[in-house]
Amino acid sequence: MPAYPDTLLLIDGQRRPSNSGRTLPVFNPATAKPIGTVAWADTSDLDQALDASARGFETWRGTPAYERAKLMRRAADILRSRADEIATWMTLEQGKPLEQSRLETLAGADIIEWFAGEAQRAYGQVIPGRAPDILQMTLKLPVGPVAAFTPWNFPINQAVRKLSAALAAGCSIIVKAAEETPASPAGLIGAFIDAGIPAGVVNLVYGVPADISEYLIPHPVIRKISFTGSTAVGKRLASLAGLHMKRATMELGGHAPVIIAEDADLEQAAKTMVAAKFRNAGQICVAPTRFLVHESVAESFTERFADGARAIRVGNGLDDGVDMGPLANDRRIPALEAMINDATTRHARLVTGGRRIGNEGWFFEPTVLADVPTDARIMNDEPFGPVAIINRFASLDEAIGEANRLPYGLAAFGFTRSSATATRLGNEVLAGMMSINHYGLALPEVPFGGTRDSGYGTEGGSEALDAYLDTRLVTRKG
Ligand code: NAD
Repeated sequence: MPAYPDTLLLIDGQRRPSNSGRTLPVFNPATAKPIGTVAWADTSDLDQALDASARGFETWRGTPAYERAKLMRRAADILRSRADEIATWMTLEQGKPLEQSRLETLAGADIIEWFAGEAQRAYGQVIPGRAPDILQMTLKLPVGPVAAFTPWNFPINQAVRKLSAALAAGCSIIVKAAEETPASPAGLIGAFIDAGIPAGVVNLVYGVPADISEYLIPHPVIRKISFTGSTAVGKRLASLAGLHMKRATMELGGHAPVIIAEDADLEQAAKTMVAAKFRNAGQICVAPTRFLVHESVAESFTERFADGARAIRVGNGLDDGVDMGPLANDRRIPALEAMINDATTRHARLVTGGRRIGNEGWFFEPTVLADVPTDARIMNDEPFGPVAIINRFASLDEAIGEANRLPYGLAAFGFTRSSATATRLGNEVLAGMMSINHYGLALPEVPFGGTRDSGYGTEGGSEALDAYLDTRLVTRKG
């Protein structure tokens, strides 16, 4: 098995310790034991990263899109060739099953390739002039150096979307990845360095998240920020970006509703949603959470879903046959226990699970709560863990009303055999992404993003590059 590496900063093409030499410990969530360290950047390191990204931007924006795309494809090939090693690091630091880490790494290579194609398609327009000698056109130009803040739940996926879009557009980037899971994003960025990306175009730092964001966002070198994480932190960073007139993409929390109509294929709905709910131990912003099931099929669906939850094999992500690993950090355990306790105190029914497993590592039972009152905390706050809520509804109006009750608007799901119901779900549920009769999210070629308190901007699909581009009008006479 590949050894877990200590993670260094990457500034101006050099992997190096922080100037102060300080580090933070990294833990294996399956054992709660330290496995390595990550370098901790202070403002002197950040100043060097900013300086490098300003120089890197000058080089990269002058590099033809065709060359940028070639280099990105080379990085994708390198990432694929290292998938086994990087996946092992990811499982050791994040906990998810090894196969899921491998698939996330390989999907990262697909995302790089998709954005490489977009680099070659980022063209402007020629707009008909009002006189024969007027030529008016738009140019699409990179916005400038980017600061990206990425979380620990998908250490590669969250970073690769921002990185690939920025590089495709011609921007340089400073990535502040999560201190809990530093080695796998460092492996991702290493693929770009080894593919030959010019020094300073990609930089990677770690440290105290708030100190870094509050230093980078207002800094005049940075022109655009992108953040994935909780709504509370997103609002803070978006206000800072607004104060300093910086472009921003915000991919924040969710509380995804799942509407199961009376005519749904219950077997298929339960199978698809058990897999989606408990993947990554439920620590996914688009995880299905509030199941709103028609009262005529609620018992039957609950039984099938709970059977599926009980069949999930929880264990160390390095072991064969494990479906769900531990939670990624210890603070999720008391957070989930408090939410479940609050719900049962308010007479919610605990159908299965509800407790921590053992006392070594941060494992938690796949949990199903039913008949949860609207005023329970878990009906309002994102659980971000392996907990599903199953409630009943009598009419579709009622289900859509409950789906739209919360200020979130990230993912939503629906299961029905009726085309009229599917049309209503697509039109009326307030969400950035609505998936009907399957789980169809997060492919590079489709939009990925939210609305309302779940943020703004998309990190996939043909619009994803827009966030990294300025439009310039050039109008010419003669
Ligand atoms: P948190 O809000 O403290 O942190 C979430 C992420 O933001 C982490 O990666 C953290 O390093 C980063 N962060 C925190 N404060 C920051 C700041 N001031 N500047 C820059 N980055 C900052 O919460 P947590 O305990 O790590 O995670 C739990 C909550 O975070 C969940 O309830 C969930 O809503 C949210 N979360 C969402 C996603 C997502 O994919 N949207 C991913 C991870 C966490």
